[in-house]
Amino acid sequence: MTESVQWETIDCPVCSSKNYRKWRTVRDRFDVIPGQEFTIVNCEDCGFRFLNPRPDIESIGIFYEPEGYDPFLSTKDKVSLTDSMYSMVRTFSLWRKRLLIEDFRRSGSLLDVGCGTGEFVRYMQDFQWEVAGVEPAERAREFVASHGIQVTESLGKTPDNQYDVVTLWHVIEHLHDLEGAVKKLAALTKSGGYLVLAMPNMESYDAKRYQENWVALDTPRHLYHFAESDTVKLFSSTPVRLIDTRNLWLDTIYNVLYSEQLYHRWEKKRYRPFFILNAIFGSYVNDWQQSTRQASASVYILQKEGTNA
Ligand SMILES: [Zn+2]
Repeated sequence: MTESVQWETIDCPVCSSKNYRKWRTVRDRFDVIPGQEFTIVNCEDCGFRFLNPRPDIESIGIFYEPEGYDPFLSTKDKVSLTDSMYSMVRTFSLWRKRLLIEDFRRSGSLLDVGCGTGEFVRYMQDFQWEVAGVEPAERAREFVASHGIQVTESLGKTPDNQYDVVTLWHVIEHLHDLEGAVKKLAALTKSGGYLVLAMPNMESYDAKRYQENWVALDTPRHLYHFAESDTVKLFSSTPVRLIDTRNLWLDTIYNVLYSEQLYHRWEKKRYRPFFILNAIFGSYVNDWQQSTRQASASVYILQKEGTNA
């Protein structure tokens, strides 16, 4: 299977530097290619961390095939206790996303990039938002379209200056053409409109505690590992500016529990109940004491210059 993967080496996608050094070697939690390790590098000029070399865009597909990654899992009929808990968390999470957006804008047009089966856009439509989606996976796209929602295959096929709010929920870290995506995202958004980006937080307490066992490194599916300062730099050449950052605390609980499993499996060590509690609650305590942003994932709210009619 290794022969079928084409690798590519890239310059720093944030500052174009060719100077980087190895930061960490990380395994794939699904072990798609048994024993394969992946290298995350650190840019010597701007500090950004990214997967390098990485499977090219034609090869990455095989790493999305494991069952744990199927976007259709949520539409299956069998309902277990885990499924109903998952469904509760999902409803809570949709509600939370909507409230977050409505803190900035109460109505208008919304584009969800990487919309999957359209759970979020369908939910927002119920609250009178005019919704559209972008989804490269054909089956998921057809499913969304069957609900009467406009959905395009790629960012490039989406019209500019069209949306009051553009959302990417855990999507940007998967995009091969990051520089192209950043330019296009800025163009899609109307003047005065908002860009809402959720992604794992490299500066989180649990990321530091779990190091190479931190599940949100998710090599090789996550191509980039952002801290808040990287997000600011990424958009510095566009008319889009960071205006607020929010914590996703639910992600912390999930990521800590999953990271501990990886530690147990990969390091062949016992589970550490106190370490787990500290990794989860330490981030709250630190946050309160130092007012730093330390949840496992962050939502960045950016706004495009200009006024919205
Ligand atoms: Zn750089």
